[in-house]
Amino acid sequence: MEALLTDEQKMFRQTLRDFGEKEIKPHVRAYIEKKEFPWEVIRKLAKLGALGVTIPVAYGGTEAGAMGVVIVMEETARAGIRAPLTHLGATRNISEFANHELKQKYLPPLASGEKIAAYAQTEPSVGSDAAAMRMTAELNGDYYYLNGTKVFITNGEVASTFVVLAKTDKSKKAEGISGFIVEREFPGFIIGKREKKMGSELIPSNELIFENCRVPRENLFVSQGDGFKKMMGSFNGERCGNSAACVGLAQAAFERALRYSQERETFGKPIAQHQGIQWMLADMAIQVRAGRLMTYDAAYKLDHGIRAVKESAMTKAYCNEMSQRVINMAIQIHGGYGYMEDYEVERMYRDVRGLAFGGGTPQILRSRIAYELIRGR
Ligand SMILES: Cc1cc2nc3c(=O)[nH]c(=O)nc-3n(C[C@H](O)[C@H](O)[C@H](O)COP(=O)(O)OP(=O)(O)OC[C@H]3O[C@@H](n4cnc5c(N)ncnc54)[C@H](O)[C@@H]3O)c2cc1C
Repeated sequence: MEALLTDEQKMFRQTLRDFGEKEIKPHVRAYIEKKEFPWEVIRKLAKLGALGVTIPVAYGGTEAGAMGVVIVMEETARAGIRAPLTHLGATRNISEFANHELKQKYLPPLASGEKIAAYAQTEPSVGSDAAAMRMTAELNGDYYYLNGTKVFITNGEVASTFVVLAKTDKSKKAEGISGFIVEREFPGFIIGKREKKMGSELIPSNELIFENCRVPRENLFVSQGDGFKKMMGSFNGERCGNSAACVGLAQAAFERALRYSQERETFGKPIAQHQGIQWMLADMAIQVRAGRLMTYDAAYKLDHGIRAVKESAMTKAYCNEMSQRVINMAIQIHGGYGYMEDYEVERMYRDVRGLAFGGGTPQILRSRIAYELIRGR
């Protein structure tokens, strides 16, 4: 597994791990209780280059590829704050598809952490079937006018730069979708309600409302036709990042369970000496390792120009479900304490559950895997 990482990547991982231990872990509970976005952590992560891994060096980033995203997401999730995931997805979109002027304008403050980004695709009645989206963008003179509503948008109320998908041709399905960069201050753009949700309380999920939202025509950066299809291709990197967050959370839960099992005694000995607990620990370690291997493998392939659509989808489907199983076992090993907030494994379970939706649900991913298999890929 280590052979898939360069020395530079290993150093980056160690830096983030040390940062997570000192600067994230001790503060997680306080952020959650205040339901406060962890700006301080985000800005410090930016200084370490973690917010610019998908951004070219020429625009202030570190251009660290899919493996860079994996390292950032595994280490931040392991420490307890998996906030950068959506930002990295949106900045990847802008880096890959926008022209020089747009990149020059929007990417440097996103790499430095001065601003963060969001990605808006899901609508109240349209999730997995994105081609059915209803939001429209009509050109009139020098501006597009966007109308519609997006839901569940991560970072909604804290982001400044939004990647927004809308139909520029309502008569078409996926071919009618275009992508825009929308600034928070554009007229007609309203940040709607903040959702109350099961976990990840410190990362806001918002409704976004567009009422004749006026967007300069040059901010269209993904054109109808095959633009949306190409953009979906960049979801492979997003899937690796999501998988890495699952691995990080599962690893953290495993570490806590291993420690607790050696401290807690029943029937005159530590519970780690009961075979039933040992087998759970072994199962957890096997599955975290398998998930990490799959994640590194898919990211490595993407970074080396290998088409890894199937691998990325398999990785996310596996890691989404593996992490739920592993954290559930960690809760069980903690007994009743596992259900209580102080031991944190309950928080990990709630957090990880939310990772099984964006970037393709496990069902949609299985359909994609089968699509690839049937075509002999
Ligand atoms: C915590 C969180 C953060 C999110 N962040 C963002 C964000 O930042 N930006 C954004 O745009 N969206 C975001 N989303 C939305 C997410 O992308 C959608 O939830 C996801 O695409 C699924 O869409 P849906 O919820 O509408 O479910 P639906 O598409 O309505 O699906 C409902 C159920 O049916 C299943 N299903 C659907 N079609 C099929 C099929 N063909 N075969 C088998 N099963 C199927 C699904 O797997 C699911 O279980 C977020 C969601 C969550 C929970």
